[in-house]
Amino acid sequence: MKLKVNKLLIPTNKIKMKTHKAGICYLFLLSFMIYASSCGGNKTGDQNVYVENGKIALGFDKQTGSLSCLKDITNSFSLLDTNLIPGSPWELEFMNSSGTGIINSDNAAKFRFSKPDPLTIILKWKNFSYTEKKDLEVVATINLDKDKPLSFWKISVNNLEGKSIKQVIFPRIAGLKDTGEEYLAVPQWMGQIMKDPRINLSALKSNVKRYSWTYPGLSLQCLALYNSEKNGLYAACNDSMAYIKNFSFSLDTLNSLVYRMHNLPSVDSLRTSYEPPYTGVIGTFKGDWITAAEIYREWGSQQRWTRESRFKNQITPDWLENTALWVWNRSKSGNVLVPAMDMKQRLGLPVSVFWHWWHGCSYDDEFPEYVPPREGKESFISAVSAANKEGIRAIVYMNQRLWGTTTESWTKDNAAVYALKNPDGKINTHVYNIFSNRPTASMCMGTQFWKDKYASLCDSAVNTYTANGVYMDQACQAMPCYDPTHGHPVGPGNYWVENFGKLTKQIRSKITQDKQLILAGEGCGEAWLPYLDLFLTLDISKERYAGLGPWRTIPFFQAVYHQYSITYGNYSSLLVPPYDELWPKEYAPKKPLEMLSKDFNQQFLMEQARSFVWGMQPTIANYQAFLSRDRKEEIDFLLNLARIRNQAVKYLLYGKFMRSPQIESPEKEFGISRLSIYAGKTGNSVTAFRGTFPLLYSGTWQADDKDLGIALVSISDDPVEVSFKFSSDDYELPPAGKIFIIDKKGKRELTSFSNKEIKVDFTLNPKDICMLEVTSGN
Ligand SMILES: [Zn+2]
Repeated sequence: MKLKVNKLLIPTNKIKMKTHKAGICYLFLLSFMIYASSCGGNKTGDQNVYVENGKIALGFDKQTGSLSCLKDITNSFSLLDTNLIPGSPWELEFMNSSGTGIINSDNAAKFRFSKPDPLTIILKWKNFSYTEKKDLEVVATINLDKDKPLSFWKISVNNLEGKSIKQVIFPRIAGLKDTGEEYLAVPQWMGQIMKDPRINLSALKSNVKRYSWTYPGLSLQCLALYNSEKNGLYAACNDSMAYIKNFSFSLDTLNSLVYRMHNLPSVDSLRTSYEPPYTGVIGTFKGDWITAAEIYREWGSQQRWTRESRFKNQITPDWLENTALWVWNRSKSGNVLVPAMDMKQRLGLPVSVFWHWWHGCSYDDEFPEYVPPREGKESFISAVSAANKEGIRAIVYMNQRLWGTTTESWTKDNAAVYALKNPDGKINTHVYNIFSNRPTASMCMGTQFWKDKYASLCDSAVNTYTANGVYMDQACQAMPCYDPTHGHPVGPGNYWVENFGKLTKQIRSKITQDKQLILAGEGCGEAWLPYLDLFLTLDISKERYAGLGPWRTIPFFQAVYHQYSITYGNYSSLLVPPYDELWPKEYAPKKPLEMLSKDFNQQFLMEQARSFVWGMQPTIANYQAFLSRDRKEEIDFLLNLARIRNQAVKYLLYGKFMRSPQIESPEKEFGISRLSIYAGKTGNSVTAFRGTFPLLYSGTWQADDKDLGIALVSISDDPVEVSFKFSSDDYELPPAGKIFIIDKKGKRELTSFSNKEIKVDFTLNPKDICMLEVTSGN
């Protein structure tokens, strides 16, 4: 994993509160309707023009086109603060000789609107005071869903006269009302949630109080800002072609919250107009991030990427689906495959291996000189063969975009020509290896040269060195390349993921079916569902790489796409992470394979519990056989967890994410290790914290046959009372049936239910793991 995410350039804050100006207003009213209930405040309906569908209402200032109303009609809730002057629904940033310039609806002398039908409003701005763009025209078309509280926002910018646009911000929803107990949920990788985003934003040290995320990188296109008791903003996009774009929330100068979607055209000096080939989606909802995920899932599960999902179409090899546990180890086979064989004997179920540092080059600075393996060809091949005989498969690490610029091959292969270029034309380099300080360059996925190079590396790894698959580091992101000689659109676009698809096709074309190849990738992303068999979602161990910040990991991606994807991985380790033997000796830890303090044992259990209840394939990082003796309790917990999961794959591998019933959980403060990728230190960084976390974890899954599985894990040292009830209607269950428990004693009936009333009361023993199965059958 690489912690650096290459961000697109975001403009500096150019927010200004509107000063009311006298614009010339031309009214073209094909139909005219004043939304009966004003959107809040003391306005009369006359100032605004509305569209509404009985669920959601939008209002725009008739003089200026500013967004004056966003209302959830069902819950009678206005999302905008009516004490603020309405804001422009768009912003346009140009690139010009003096840098950049931003305009919005305030800069237009002419505004007119029309309503071609009751659910559609067209807004047009012209005659911009921005002198260079006299004929510029901005047209926004906002269309409401027939039945749902959703609106679809389309924009086109016309008469550009060859002027370059850096970004078109649309929709822009300014003046979002503070609803008190607020949460912001964002699908950054798996997903994350923050309480009180306004307080956290205002505490940022930078002048610009903004959180911004790039998609892809976000695993899907839906953000939610809500107070679950009151109402929420559903901010999404229905781009099924995965164009690069940004989403942001920021505080403006009056401390009011603004949502923006940043559309990023590619660089084209001949362009006369720009219209993103998708629409922004703005909706309202009452509920929480799961409610928002359910709304998005309705759309996402109908897209090409779910229809072509490798997992859903059963193209993924059986050995992947049968994997009960991953061992993620590093270095030569003796340190990787031998411990995995030990684990397999103890578990008695299929174990697979996620293998780093197998390669001849040193990690993070000498890519892509992977072959031959560091232990030599013969040793490597015979070790893989021995492991395969035991039923253990191994996937090997190869970064899908980095090339060390100090390597011999960089010069010899003339790689610089095919490297990704920044807007200034320079090669995009980054130093990941803080020990050697040797940079790597990102290669351009849009070039055939790089696809050929990477496909030939996969060919070697699988066909020559007999690996069972390849883990493609830094996948599920897209990067804009500004090299005009590469044959792709210059700058942002959707060619990265398109070319990633071509790359995986090329890799698979060279590897025969009997090899049962799998391709895994870092992170997760909806657009990669047709290309990757497996997704590494390390957010499960967020505390180990990000410490204790305001963001908490949530299974947003799994909530939307679990039945279309297999996720795995964590940094869950009982040992101090290793140090590459090929790195500078002076930073190496004195004692390799040193045990982590027992203070962090509960963190290990927490990570395993999360991955179990959130439907991931379990993983242990840095496993060694002596741990089963020296950390028996933790290893026994993991073995138990993998065995119970193996009896519940109907839910935990194939099931659909459901909201869990309300279950009380005790909390406790415990130690948190902040050592993730490698040991070795160059300074005195803080490596431990204490944090308070739940001791009981739950996750609820619906099987294809509509049976319901409720996964429960206690990481407590004391017994935990589990008590909850719900109606069978909540989960499409029959009014009567049985509840079974699957735990280390096997499967047995726990209780039964009738009259739609499901009631569960039992005690989980310390560190117990179980699956409750609610079913009409036996
Ligand atoms: Zn390129």
